[in-house]
Amino acid sequence: MTAIPAKKIHEPQNGVEEGSPGKGSPGRGNASLGKEDLAGIAVKMIDSHAHLTSPELLDQLDLLLMRAEEAGIEAIINICTDPLSLERSSDLIKKFPWVYQTAATTPHDVEKEGEEAFPIFAQAAREGKLHAIGETGLDYYYEHSNRDIQKKFLRRYLHLALECDLPIVIHCREAFQDFFEILDSEYIVNGRHHAPGVLHCFTGTMQEAEGVIKRGWMLSLSGIVTFKKSTELQEVAKRVPLEQLLIETDAPYLAPQSHRGKQNEPAYLVDTARFIASLKGISFEELAQATTNNAKKLFQL
Ligand SMILES: [Zn+2]
Repeated sequence: MTAIPAKKIHEPQNGVEEGSPGKGSPGRGNASLGKEDLAGIAVKMIDSHAHLTSPELLDQLDLLLMRAEEAGIEAIINICTDPLSLERSSDLIKKFPWVYQTAATTPHDVEKEGEEAFPIFAQAAREGKLHAIGETGLDYYYEHSNRDIQKKFLRRYLHLALECDLPIVIHCREAFQDFFEILDSEYIVNGRHHAPGVLHCFTGTMQEAEGVIKRGWMLSLSGIVTFKKSTELQEVAKRVPLEQLLIETDAPYLAPQSHRGKQNEPAYLVDTARFIASLKGISFEELAQATTNNAKKLFQL
């Protein structure tokens, strides 16, 4: 479905390199929980962004969702990026009602797939089948789609979110100036407030983080924050108000440091949550509780 391998799309930025794959526990021990992880089981968390119905995870969903539950994940926002992943997701949520779905064509693919997919996603939104619109946005780092086309679709999806009274999930990379400009002119309610949304897998600067926060939005951090070289992002994690923070895996991409190079999955969220809690100097429980409340509020769960 995507123009380039999805792993490339989700490659970290700001000089952060991917770890070498293939290391870690032998065999299939992908999500084996250590003793430390077990301590977190009573604590509930929400993975605010995962691509469960992407081809990489499809054949392992039953086990993966079982491991997620065991790790304390009480809900997952499944981000559908093409009509097929939405169709699969609509089946999945019947079986796992604690999975919720969103849909949009990513900024990478709008040039190729945007027109065809938009009416399908718009219909799903209007029929009340989505909990958010997204992920949409702007990506000038890869620029796999023409910038003007990316902006056009961002606007269309923002308008759809307003029309359907749904929050929006944004991917933004090296495009914050244009993004904020569009948001400030096209995503305002009552002439004053920004309508709700989340900047997912945030990897921008402190100044860009402040731009997100000052607009009253949620800022979501993925496993990238746990990487050793993510020093500025770790400062962002310390500064973002607890009531505006979400956590996510972006599975199957971007496993946290502790599982680096492996396929990511929602059960690994616990590692990212622990890491951010220690950065903020609060307990894991407090971090988990706050981010869970924030996700419930944003996505109306
Ligand atoms: Zn994503």
